[in-house]
Amino acid sequence: MADNVNSLPFFYGNITREEAEEYLRQTGMGNGLYLLRQSRNYLGGFALSVSHSGRCYHYTIERQPNEMYAIAGGKSHRNPVDVIDYHSQEMDGLVCLLRKPCNRPKNMQPKVGPFEDLKEKLIREYVKQTWNLQGAALEQAIISQRPQLEKRIATTAHEKMPWFHGAITREASEPRLQNGSRTNGKFLIRQRDQDGSYALCLLHEGQVMHYRIDRDRTGKLSIPDGKKFDTLWQLVEHYSYKPDGLLRVLTDPCPRPPGEINTRPLPNPQASSGLLPSFHTAAEGIVSMIKNIPIPGRTKSTRDAHGKKTGQGNFNPYEITKEAMPMDTEVYESPYADPDELRSSTVDRSQLFLEDGELGSGNFGTVMKGIYKMRKTEKTVAVKILKNDDNQSVRDEMLREADVMQQLDNPYIVRMIGICEAESLMLVMELAELGPLHKFLQKNKQTSIKNITELVHQVSMGMKYLEEHNFVHRDLAARNVLLVTQHYAKISDFGLSKAVAEEQNYYKAKGHGKWPVKWYAPECINYFKFSSKSDVWSFGVLMWEAFSYGQKPYKGMKGNDVMQMIESGQRMEAPANCPSEMYDLMRTCWTYKVDERPPFSVVEPRLRDYYYDIAQ
Ligand code: AMP
Repeated sequence: MADNVNSLPFFYGNITREEAEEYLRQTGMGNGLYLLRQSRNYLGGFALSVSHSGRCYHYTIERQPNEMYAIAGGKSHRNPVDVIDYHSQEMDGLVCLLRKPCNRPKNMQPKVGPFEDLKEKLIREYVKQTWNLQGAALEQAIISQRPQLEKRIATTAHEKMPWFHGAITREASEPRLQNGSRTNGKFLIRQRDQDGSYALCLLHEGQVMHYRIDRDRTGKLSIPDGKKFDTLWQLVEHYSYKPDGLLRVLTDPCPRPPGEINTRPLPNPQASSGLLPSFHTAAEGIVSMIKNIPIPGRTKSTRDAHGKKTGQGNFNPYEITKEAMPMDTEVYESPYADPDELRSSTVDRSQLFLEDGELGSGNFGTVMKGIYKMRKTEKTVAVKILKNDDNQSVRDEMLREADVMQQLDNPYIVRMIGICEAESLMLVMELAELGPLHKFLQKNKQTSIKNITELVHQVSMGMKYLEEHNFVHRDLAARNVLLVTQHYAKISDFGLSKAVAEEQNYYKAKGHGKWPVKWYAPECINYFKFSSKSDVWSFGVLMWEAFSYGQKPYKGMKGNDVMQMIESGQRMEAPANCPSEMYDLMRTCWTYKVDERPPFSVVEPRLRDYYYDIAQ
C-alpha cells in the first residue's frame, strides 16, 4: 500500500500533526480540505487531517488485522484511498465531508521517517544473523518475507537506538543521565519487567523523572493516560517533538555505555518454557531484542501449519511472531549447503528408514515418509518409490526427473536429496508434509487472500528461478505445488520437465502425450512448443485454482472444448472474491501470443508488489 499511497499528491508521508495543520492553513483552510499522512503511532496506519470552520481535525485510519482500513469504529475499506472516497460521500462520524485534497507543494516528496533509512540495513542483518543465510538464500528470504520482516524489525528497532539501555534498574539509570552533559530533556529508556513494560527516564532540572511505559493486551505501548504506540521508536519520536503530558520534550538521547546490552524476554503466551535467552552480547547487537520474541525454531513441518492468529481488535505487532517463515524450516536451504554434508546423488539404503503410511501416489508409484541419516543431521524426507521396477521406460522417466531435480537449488522448489537403488528405485526428496496446494485450500476455506497471495508469489519465485536457468516445467498446476507449512510452498513433480537450449528457449515435443491440456498454452497444443512462457500460461491457471480454493479449472469441460474456448478469445471468469489485481494478472498470463505474454521476470514482481501492498 505504501508505494501506491506515495504517489498520491495529497499524501505527505511522516509529517507531524502540527505540520499537517500548517499545510492546511497555507492552502486556505477551506471546509473539507484534507490531506493524508503516515500514522506516527500505528504501524501501517495513516492519519487524515481535515479543516472545517477554521479548525483542524485529525482521524487515525487504522490498518485492521484483516488488512482492511477504517477510521476507528467506522466502515472498513480495502485501502486508505477507498476510505477517503467513502467519506467524500458520507460523513459517517467525520466533522464534514471530504471535499478537496490539499496537495503537496511542488517538488515536495512525501517525508520519509527516520526508521525507513535504517530499515534496509536492519532487515539484512537480521536475516543474516537469525538464519545464518547469505547470498541467494538471503536475497530470496528478504524478497518473499519482506512484510513480515519489516514488522519484526519495526517492533525491535529500538535495540539499535543509543537511548535504549536494556534491563537496567532505576538506580542504575540515574547516574547515567546525571553524568556528562546535563541537558534538560536528556533521556533513556530501560526495560522494566517481563510483562513487556519499559520506563522512560528523563532529566529535568538536574532530577531524573521516571515514567512507566505500559503494554496493553493488544501489545500497544503508552505512558499512563498517554497516546498509544506500536513501537518504542514511535513513542520516542512523538515525545521528541511534543511533551504531551511529560514535564518536557525529549532532547538528547543518553548514550548507552559500550558493551553488553541486557534485555528480558518479552511476554508471549508461547514463551512459557522460560528457556528463552535473557542476556545478549553486544555482538548480537540489533537482533538481541528480536531474539527475545520467540521465533519458531526450525520446524518439524507440522508445527504452525495453520498459523492461526489470536486476539481481536487492532493490529498487534506481537502476533506476527507466531507465523513461521520459510527460513524457520529445515527445507529452506539445501542440506548440502552445509559443507560437512558431502553432496552425493546416491542415498545409502542402510541410512534410509521408511515409515508406515503413504504420503500420496502418482504415476510412478507411491510416496512414503522416511528418515534419512546424513553425516551430521537426520532429515525427514519424502521417498518416491517406483512401483514397477522392471518397466524400463518408467524407470528412465524417473531417472530423468531425478536428473533435472538434481540441477536445481531454490527454496521454492522441492529438492532432490538423492537416488536410492535398492529393493526398488527410490527418489529421496525434501518433505513438504502439508501436501498439494489445491487439496489444502479445499480443506481450509478460511485461508486468507493474503496467505494465498503469499504462496502464489513463492511459486512465481521458484518459476522465475527455473526460467533463469532455462528449465521448463511443463506440468505446473496447483496439484504440483506442495506445502511445507501454510506459509511455505514448493514446486514439485519434474516428471515432464526439460532443460532447454539457451538460444532456442523452447522444447519441441515429438508428439501429443498424456497432457494436462487445461493447463497448456495454445502453442503447446498447436505446435508442441514448450517454453517458460508456456509455463507462465499454466501459472495463470494455477493462480485461478488457488484463488478459487482448489476448484477444478474449466469444470465439466472436455479438453477440446477448452481449446475452442481459448481460440475464440474467451477465458475463465474470475473466482469469487478474487482481487481484481490478481485476476488481471491471470488474464495477462493467458495472453494468446507467446511474444506478448510476460515472462516470470515480470510476473513475479507484479505479484510481489501486490503481496507487499496487502501484507504491509
Ligand atoms: P507425484 O508422483 O510427484 O505426483 O506425487 C504424488 C503425491 O505424493 C503428491 O500429490 C503428494 O501428495 C505426495 N508427495 C510427492 N512428493 C512429496 C514430497 N516431496 N513431500 C510430501 N509429499 C509428497
